[in-house]
Amino acid sequence: MNNIIWPVIVLGGIAVFFGIVLAYASKKFAVEVDPRVTEVREVLPGANCGGCGYAGCDALAEAIARGDAAITTCPVGGAELAAKLSVIMGVEAGSMEREVARVICCGDKNNAKEKYEYQGIEDCKAAEMLAGGSKSCRYGCTGLGTCVRECPFDAIHVVNGAAVVDEEKCTACKKCIAVCPKGIIELVPVSNKVRVLCKNLDKGKSTMDVCKIGCIACQKCVKACKFDAIKVENNVAKIDYSKCVNCMMCAEVCPTKTIYANFADRKKAFISDDKCIGCAICKKHCNFEAIEGELKSKHKVLDDKCVGCSQCSVKCPKDAIEMK
Ligand code: SF4
Ligand code: SF4
Repeated sequence: MNNIIWPVIVLGGIAVFFGIVLAYASKKFAVEVDPRVTEVREVLPGANCGGCGYAGCDALAEAIARGDAAITTCPVGGAELAAKLSVIMGVEAGSMEREVARVICCGDKNNAKEKYEYQGIEDCKAAEMLAGGSKSCRYGCTGLGTCVRECPFDAIHVVNGAAVVDEEKCTACKKCIAVCPKGIIELVPVSNKVRVLCKNLDKGKSTMDVCKIGCIACQKCVKACKFDAIKVENNVAKIDYSKCVNCMMCAEVCPTKTIYANFADRKKAFISDDKCIGCAICKKHCNFEAIEGELKSKHKVLDDKCVGCSQCSVKCPKDAIEMK
């Protein structure tokens, strides 16, 4: 009997001793975990897409709690998430417009010429190694869908030989941008309705030889823009979204239809007679002479001249102009 009791007592004693030591050590050497890490992690989307530049949602939660990352860092959660994080972290969220990826190319099978028939593996990077892919335009979309396979949100598809983003599904995680060998996918504010669909840096004639809707650098858009929001640099037009007001004038004049705008989305200004005090500020700020009226009398929008730039509505001190 003694043979069993003594080992039990000794082992029990050792277990109790180490239990006490471990309990003491866990208290003494405990690493303080910021409770906000858990709270932040709970509201992050859990997509682990890496679009924020961190290894995943856990890493971003720690960075936000430490104050190393802004509460607007997660591109997936957008403004809604930033608002929740601002409560947890006790900081201002500020305004944050949702961004979406857009493919700056419309070189689909109808528009871009093919220079050879590609029969290799379905991978844009592989095709890129074979003389820049099968399309004659060396800047254009290869159309083999590497971005499609990379997107965790099913938000990008190849349509008729060129990639197109589904803006409803896009979370701006940037995965497509990272894998596109042509560098033709960019993040833009979702409210911007006008887009240049070309990144071809060659001169006009060379561009026309390879694609029907390539930018020929004619500068007509630059002249038409009354907001200094579009420039032609290195033979291709580029919109400055911080200045663009969606008037769509550039798209109206572009001879090659390189600039896309859905004209059905174009809004018109409406002045409320009840609110208008006839201050004429709207008239002064309209670049299109689309508002008429004398000082101290009700003003009126000329429908056929209004291009929906909304500058009158922004400037009206009485909030009397609505865009619809
Ligand atoms: S939409 Fe209007 S403001 Fe924007 S780039 Fe074109 S012309 Fe300029
Ligand atoms: S009007 Fe069209 S073709 Fe001409 S420079 Fe502007 S985008 Fe290019």
